[in-house]
Order: sequence, then C-alpha cells, then structure tokens
Amino acid sequence: MRGKTFYRCTVCNDIHYGNIAPKICPTCSSKDAYVHIAEREAGVTLKFLKIEEGKNFNENEVLKTFEDFTKSKDFTLNTDKERIELIVQGVLEHEEQYGLKYCPCRMTSGNFDEDLSLICPCNFKIQNNWKEIGECWCSLFIKRKE
Ligand code: SF4
Ligand SMILES: [Zn+2]
Repeated sequence: MRGKTFYRCTVCNDIHYGNIAPKICPTCSSKDAYVHIAEREAGVTLKFLKIEEGKNFNENEVLKTFEDFTKSKDFTLNTDKERIELIVQGVLEHEEQYGLKYCPCRMTSGNFDEDLSLICPCNFKIQNNWKEIGECWCSLFIKRKE
C-alpha cells in the first residue's frame, strides 16, 4: 500500500490523487488503465508545474510501476531483462531532457499536447503492433500467453 499518491490514466492522461487508482477512468471510461506516477509528473502533465530537468523516479521505481501496471492484465513485461533496462533508461533520459517519461523509441513532436500521448506507459492497445503481434511499439509490454 503506497498511501495517497498520484495515478495517470494511460489512455487519456486523467490524473487521480488517492489511496488507490480508480477501476474505471471517469474521463474516458477505460478499465484498469491507471499507472502510479510521481507528483512532479502529475503536475507537469496537468500544466500546474513547468517542465524542469531531472528525474522524478529512479530506475527501480519506474520498473516497479511497470510491473504493477501489468498485474491482472492481459499483458506482461517482456522477459528480456536487458531490453527492459534499456527502455527504463530511455524513458528516464527523456524525462531528464524533456520533462516527461516519453516513449524511448518514438520521436516527440515538440508540441506539448500532442506529445502527451507518448508518455510511457502509453495507450498502446490502439497501436497496429498490439493488434498484429500483441506487443507495444517498443516491446515493453507483451500479450500474456493463454
Ligand atoms: S510503446 Fe511501449 S515503451 Fe513506448 S510509451 Fe508505449 S508502452 Fe511505453
Ligand atoms: Zn482515461
């Protein structure tokens, strides 16, 4: 139990502050779409805080949020640990450089609102990669085998 903290809907970027993430997003109605995020990420996403250099979470915290996000889902983390480490470092480098944990294998446009769809974890189930091969674009999340 984390206590009161921030959560972000990975589909519409709704931000929630509370003891647990909502089951259903009140903004986009997606189910089980929230991931735990740092307070600064919440503030920057909502434009309450200006973008500043620096990491909000360390590598282990990012990995833990990814792992927690896969619990009771139809996807899991890639089993290739080196790949996961590279992705975790990539999102943290983007956060350090641009202020948010943007996808490590896609380019940001420089338009803040457009780039909100690139914060990791993103809404990857709309991607062709997920529909065709059951993986997010960077193969961070993989469809769980039946
Ligand atoms: S495609 Fe995968 S790695 Fe990239 S932002 Fe989405 S969930 Fe993260
Ligand atoms: Zn939502």
